Amino acid sequence: MPLIETIAQSNGKNRAMKNTHFCYASILFFGCQSPAEPNDLASSDEAVNTPSDTGITPSPKIQDCLSPAPKSMWGEIIEAPAQTFFSADLSDGVRQGIDAGLLAAAQAWGNYGPVEYWVLGTDTDAALELIDCYCERRDAFGQWSHESCVSHHSATDGEHNLMSYLLVGQQAVEDNIPMGSMGLNGNRDWGIHTFTSSYPFGFDGIFEYIEAAEETKTVFHEYFHAVQSAHIYTKDYQHREALMGPTWFVEGGAEYMADYTTSRMWSDGTLLPTPSSNHPSFEQRMEWRMIGGKENLATHCPDMAFEDITYQDPCRYAAYELGAWAIAYLHATTKPNQLLEVFYPNLEALGWEAAFETAFGVSPESFYEDFDDFLSLSLADQMAILPN
Ligand SMILES: [Zn+2]
Repeated sequence: MPLIETIAQSNGKNRAMKNTHFCYASILFFGCQSPAEPNDLASSDEAVNTPSDTGITPSPKIQDCLSPAPKSMWGEIIEAPAQTFFSADLSDGVRQGIDAGLLAAAQAWGNYGPVEYWVLGTDTDAALELIDCYCERRDAFGQWSHESCVSHHSATDGEHNLMSYLLVGQQAVEDNIPMGSMGLNGNRDWGIHTFTSSYPFGFDGIFEYIEAAEETKTVFHEYFHAVQSAHIYTKDYQHREALMGPTWFVEGGAEYMADYTTSRMWSDGTLLPTPSSNHPSFEQRMEWRMIGGKENLATHCPDMAFEDITYQDPCRYAAYELGAWAIAYLHATTKPNQLLEVFYPNLEALGWEAAFETAFGVSPESFYEDFDDFLSLSLADQMAILPN
C-alpha cells in the first residue's frame, strides 16, 4: 500500500509553555489498493447517527457492522451523515466529538459521501473486535475477503493498518506523550471515503493543553481530504495522484481550510463547544506555521524549494505549514472561496495546472516566484493578508 502522508507536527505553544512535546502524526494514503477486486457496493438510503434536535446522538455502543452505506455517486452531495465506527472502549465524549466534527465539516463544505470513520482506542481486545467489524463489512460489500482483511489489519508490524492505529494510542498513553495518527485510507474502487483514527484523546481531556477543539480541527483536516478526493473521479491511481497536486497543496489546503473554518464557526457560534481561552487562535497558529515552516525547511531541506517537498522528505511538515500559508496567499490575491468554488470543480476536466491557473489567475511557476518573495516579507506584512 503506498504511503501518501506521514507527518510529525509540533504545537509551538505547548513546547513554549510546558517544554513538553506534542507530536501529531497524521498518516494518510489515498487510493490504497485492496488485495481483492471490489464489486458493487451494497447500498441503501438509510442514514446513521442522525443528529437529534438537541444535538448529536452518540453512536450506539453495539454498532451495526453491516449497516448499509448510503446510496450515492462519487462526488455527489448526499444527505446521510458519515458512518462512524468506534472501538468499544471509547467514551461517549469521543463518539460525540467525532460525529459532531464530521457533521460540522460537512455542513461547511458539503456532505460528500459515503464516509466511514473508524476510531481505535487503547484496548487490544476491543480493537480486534473493531477489526472484525471492519472486515465483516468489507466482505459483505464484496470488497475484501474477511480472512485476508483480518490478517492484514490485525498484524502488529503492519503500516497504516487498523492495528497500527491502536498501537499509536497505546504508545501515547504509555509514554504520556500526546501523539495521534489518522488517515484517509481511501480505496476509490470501494466508492467510500474511508478514514481511520487512533485514539483522539483530546475529547477525553487526557493530556493537559490538548483539548477537544484540537481534535475537532483534525477531523476537519481529514474531512477536507474527502472533499479533495470527491472531486477526482478517475479510478486510475497515477492519474488521481497527479490531480491531487503537490504535497503543499493537498496538506496546506487541508490545514488552512480546517483551521480557518473551525475558527470562523467557533466565533459565529455554529460549532460547539467553543474552545477555551488556552486554545491558540487562527492568527497565532498561522504565525507559528510561518516561523516553524521556514525553520523546518532551512534546517532539514536547506537546498529544497517548498513546492518540491514530498511526504518522504525530512522537512515534510513544512509542506503543511508553508502550504497553509500558500493557500492563504492564493485566497488573499484572488477571492476567499476560489479553492472550493473554482479550483476543485474544474480539476478533473482541466488537470491540476490549468485548474490552478483558472482559479488563481497565475501559473503555478509564477505563483512559486511570487510566494517566494512573500516568504521574505516581515511577519507583520505576512500576517496582514490573513482574513479578519
Ligand atoms: Zn492531511
